[in-house]
Order: sequence, then structure tokens, then C-alpha cells
Amino acid sequence: MPTEPAAATQGGLTLRELQAIPVERLKGIGEKKLASLHEVGVETVLDLLTTYPRRWVDRTNEARVSDLRPGVEALVLVTVRAVTKRTMRNRRTMIEVQVGDGSGRLHIVFFNQPWRERQLREGLQIMLFGKADVYRGGLQMTNPIVDLIGDRTGKIVPIYPQSEKAQLSTWEIAGWVESALERCSARGFADPVPLAIRRELGLIDRHSAMRQIHLPETMGEKEQARRRLAFDELLRVQTVLVMRKRAFEREQRGIRHDMSGELVRRFHSALPYALTGAQARAIAEIDLDLAGPHPMHRLLQGDVGSGKTVVATSALLAAVQGGHQGALMAPTEVLAEQHATGIRALLADLKVPDPGNLFGDRSLNVALLANRVTGQQRRDVLAGLADGTIDIAIGTHALIQEGVEFHSLGCVVVDEQHRFGVEQRAALRMKGSGTEDERVVPDVLVMTATPIPRTAAMTVYGDLDVSVLDELPPGRTPIKTFWANGPLMEMAAWGDVREAVSNGQQAYVVCPLIEESEKLEVASAQETFERLVHQDLKGLRIGLLHGRMAPADKERVMGEFRNRELDVLVATTVIEVGVDVPNATVMVIIDADRFGIAQLHQLRGRVGRGKVASICWLVTAELEGTSPRVEALVSSTDGFELAEIDLDLRGEGTLMNTAQKGKSDLKLASLRRDRELVHLARKAAFDIVDPDPTLAKSPLLLDEIRLVLSAEDEAFLFKS
Ligand code: ADP
Ligand code: MG
Repeated sequence: MPTEPAAATQGGLTLRELQAIPVERLKGIGEKKLASLHEVGVETVLDLLTTYPRRWVDRTNEARVSDLRPGVEALVLVTVRAVTKRTMRNRRTMIEVQVGDGSGRLHIVFFNQPWRERQLREGLQIMLFGKADVYRGGLQMTNPIVDLIGDRTGKIVPIYPQSEKAQLSTWEIAGWVESALERCSARGFADPVPLAIRRELGLIDRHSAMRQIHLPETMGEKEQARRRLAFDELLRVQTVLVMRKRAFEREQRGIRHDMSGELVRRFHSALPYALTGAQARAIAEIDLDLAGPHPMHRLLQGDVGSGKTVVATSALLAAVQGGHQGALMAPTEVLAEQHATGIRALLADLKVPDPGNLFGDRSLNVALLANRVTGQQRRDVLAGLADGTIDIAIGTHALIQEGVEFHSLGCVVVDEQHRFGVEQRAALRMKGSGTEDERVVPDVLVMTATPIPRTAAMTVYGDLDVSVLDELPPGRTPIKTFWANGPLMEMAAWGDVREAVSNGQQAYVVCPLIEESEKLEVASAQETFERLVHQDLKGLRIGLLHGRMAPADKERVMGEFRNRELDVLVATTVIEVGVDVPNATVMVIIDADRFGIAQLHQLRGRVGRGKVASICWLVTAELEGTSPRVEALVSSTDGFELAEIDLDLRGEGTLMNTAQKGKSDLKLASLRRDRELVHLARKAAFDIVDPDPTLAKSPLLLDEIRLVLSAEDEAFLFKS
């Protein structure tokens, strides 16, 4: 049970107070060291105390020199015995260091690191991490990773980020941190997290955490401290997001949709299949939002093929059944048209109850508003939207952006595909916040096919609620994925294409991605096309599609493929978005290792849409080692699993760009490692904000948010 340090209850030190103390007030920081500290961004005692160790060395638990095995990486704690420098014939330097512990000796060589001569002095304790090899009868490590321990005592030694350039050593930082903690100990640190929440989550108090992160007695203590301080970082971010969300809900008037009507029920019972559990769950979550007084802001996440369309349509119909209209916005014209076709098919024969009509109902009107809808046709659509005779409008973002007037827009579905579309969402809200006082804000459902790990979604889409379709409709034959490592195996891929075509099916060939230049990409696509036409797929009907073609030409080629006048479509990633040809059962992706995991997954989603089992070949040049992304795709077809792997491989950078991350307050917390903690922080943020929306009763937390989150952070968090 966390105990309250006596000092803290009498008004412990706040982060703002610590931020107000210049670091040079600590003993032993002269002008030169102060300049060094400034160079690494440490100006105040708060900066110093939040310069956390990057590692902790447990002296009681390291290998001894006598435990080292040739060829096996290990960490050893040793003392420097002798250092010599040699210049070799090619003028490269070699530093040789003799080290040892009570159990034996070890020989270290550093190539091209002349500064090691100054760094490693006799008698110094250092930690080495590396692989020992047998050399001239003894053990030798070459270019190991070195941590200087200095003369610090204690079982656990914190290793701070050191800077050779700024001339700061870990023991200097450790010394200053220790004296800062010493000076703070009388008052202790104020704790912004209510005791009840700390108890519930098993978090230690901040005072103990600050001490234990820097001066742990055991690794367990360090872990507890890290958990608490990482929680603080996440709580600040989540509190901002939750406040934002709640303020939004408070300030905007939504529509209480009529959920008791006939229309949605008719729609569900007319479906040729049963909803999946995930679809039913998402629909129930959405219905609750729709019935409520506040506008919905919900993210619907679901992998390609998870059945988002039915869920979205159900939401649009809920608006229609109460006498309002629905709109679906797609990122591209092609997609808008596909949605229009798909949704019209889903709604065929569905009648809208209409008490004004002799038969008690009328047919439902779905209109497409695309660029190619022009002239009188366009005027009719616009008139229908304005007088309410059109129930559902489908188009691109132009639907809301170009002053199209709706009779009563009740629900908007935004299909973002794999983009985050932050700007579009912002635009929608701007529109929503409206000029006229009495205007109500439509409910908004954002659909994305990019599965992002749930905890990450909570941060990136932190002011939205999230529904997840984590289940595919039954009866799918999973896509088999293979890796063609080199030209020999590539032949097998072309064999599969021919076989599929001879069975009346079709295939996609995706050309290498060349991010730097579309021109090069097109050239390479043409090359691939020629090669396939004249060699590997000679005799088949092959079409080429790339980003530099005129829209009409693109449409023609797509049309030919759809109508089965082409067997094979060779394309750049333009097919990534929105081609739906269930008869295509083979996909070959060339130079697959140039693509990211999410992109490969999206591409692969173009096949496996029909009843026949589909195949995806990932072709690379012959690779010696592994290709973790290609292997991930081979091993899994689950978008969420792949998203997790992607997050592991690429780190947080995937989600927040590097600049933002650098600035952000997340020093200890990791969206990747601390998934559990993100959940807890989000829940705690609701617990704190809901009874106290302006944080009047949590002034300390509010103050910390203001202090610690930079203007950029806030802008980033608020942008969505
Ligand atoms: P998404 O938009 O999530 O990629 P779609 O909504 O296009 O997926 O649905 C993919 C396919 O699955 C469609 O052909 C659709 O008819 C079918 N489908 C959707 N829900 C179900 C279900 N519950 N049972 C069987 N098939 C379904
Ligand atoms: Mg779809």
C-alpha cells in the first residue's frame, strides 16, 4: 500500500517550483559544467531530476570474467588495468585496454575510437557489453559497448545518458541528482494523483518514485518507480485528451436519434447473413451514441474485409429513420463510386416508412455526388439534398467542404482508409461548430482500415471513442502468403499466375515502390510490364496502371480488368486504394521489402475477396538474411497483429512524428511497452475529469499539464 510521506502532505515541492530553481544552485556545478548541462538541455532542477538513467546496472547480478563464453554476448563489470594506444599502418588507431575482475582478465580492443584513451583511465570501473572471442589463447572483446561506472557505490548503479561532446559523465550527473534529491527531501514532492487512484492502481507515491528511479535499492524498486513516473506522463496526455473530449461533448448539441424506428430493423433482418459478434458490438456502441444528446465522435477500426460497410450503413439509416440524412465521405472519387454501388446494393428494396405516403412508405434515395456528376443531374442531387428527398449522399470530402446544403444532416461517416485524415476531421468539426446558434452537430463515425494498436489509438485518436471489428465474417478462405527470395522462386509466382488465369481467375502484379520519384516508379513499372508481356507472362492479356496516367485512361484499364478483358493488372500502388475485383485471386508484389507492413497488408487485401482461396507472393531480390517485414506478412494475416509487429519494429515514430516525439513529455513511457499503463491512465483521466471537468479540484495536475506539455504538444493533441 503506498504511504503518504509526511512531508508531502504539508505541501511538497511542485514541478513548477523545481522548474524555477536553476540547476547551478546545486553544489559542484561550475561555469564549465553549467555550459555542458545547458548543451544537453538541462537548465533547471526539474530538468535534472527528469534526466532519468537510461540503464541500471545491478552489480550483484552481472557475469564475471570467468563466466564469459566465446561467441556469447554478455555484460561484465570490470576495472581498467592498462590502456595503450597504437597507430596502425593505415593510420587507423587501435586502443588496447586490459581489464579484469577478481575472477580473471580480459583484453579489449577499440578500432578508430582514439578518444577511448582519454576516457578509460586506470582504476576506473566500467561495464562492458559485447561478445568475447578467443584471441591468442585469451579472451578478447572488440568494440564493446562501454558504460562508465566511476566510483559510485551501491548495489544498483544508474547509468545516465552521457555526452562525450558535452563532457558530462554519468557519475557527475548521478552526484548532482543525488544532491538535488537530498535538498528536496525535507519537503518531498507534491503528488498530483489522488491517493484513491494510486491505491487502486498500486502506484507508489511520487516522492518515493523520484528517489527510486535514481537511487533504487533493488531492480524491483526501480521498476515500481518507472511505472509510477511513466504513468504520470501518460496521465497528463490522457487528461488533456479527455478534457478535450468532454468539453466537446458539453459544448456541442447533437441529435437524439430515434432508435426505435422500423428502418434499421428492416435493414438488419434483410441482410443475407448474420452479423458477426464484432459488428453487433460496434453497432450497439454506435446506437448508444446516436441516441444520446451529444454528437458522436467515434472511430471504427476494422481490417480490410471485416465488414465495416454494414456497420456504417446501419448508422446512416438510423439518421434516416428519424427524418434526417446521412452522408458518407470517401478519400477518393473511385472509392466514393464503389461505396455508392455497394451501399445501393445493400439497401436495394429497402423502404423508408413515410406516413405522408398512401402506402405508408417510399423507397430510399441514395445519391452519388462525384465530379463526373454534372449539369442537370448535379443540380437535381443538390436540390434533393437541400429539400431532404435524398436520404443518403455519398461523395468525397467535397460533400461538406463546398457548401453543399443539407435539409438535415444527421450522421456523417468518414472513410479514411489507411490515412489518418486529421485535417479532414478538423474541417468537419469546424463545420460542426457552426455559426448559427441553433445548428446541431451531426454524429460522426470515422472508419479506418488501418488497424492501429488500441493503446496507440487512444493517444492518436485520443478524443474519439473507439469501436473495433476484430473478427472477420465466417467462411473466408485465408490468403496464403509466400516469400519468393530471388529469381528462382519468382518463377513459382508466375506459375501461380498462369494457373489462376487458366482457371478463369485474374491476378495483380504490384510494381516496386520508389518513394523518391514517381517518374522512376513509372519507368520501373513500364519495365516490369514489358518484361512480363515478353517473357514471364507471355501470351496473357496484361494491362498497365500507374499514377501518371490520365484519369480516363486509368478508368478504362480498371474497367477492362473488372470486365475480365484483362487477365493481369500490372500496377503501381495506385491499386492500394479501392479496387474491388473478387475474381482476382493472385497478387505478386515485386521488391516487397521496399514497402511497409501496413502497406503490404493493404495491398494484399485486394485479393481474398471471393470464394476461391487466394495467394500472395512477396518477391524480393535474393536476400542473405531475413526480412522481418516480409516474414511478418508471411506469418500473419491479422491486421492487428501486424500493426503490433509494425509498432515493435518501427517504434513510436510510426505514430507521432519524430519531432513531436522529441518534444513530447513521454520520457519514460512507451506506447509500445506500456500498453497496459496507457489504459490505466486513460481510465484514471476519466475518473478525474468527469466529476471535475475543469480540474478545479486538481490544481496540481492542471498546473503540471500547463508546465510540461509544450505548446506543440498541445497543438498536436488538440489538432485531432
Ligand atoms: P471492409 O469495408 O471492412 O473492408 P466490407 O464492408 O467491404 O469490408 O465487407 C467485406 C465483405 O464481407 C463484403 O462482401 C460483405 O458483403 C461481406 N460481409 C460483411 N459482413 C458480413 C457478415 N456478417 N457475414 C458474412 N459476410 C459479410
Ligand atoms: Mg469496404
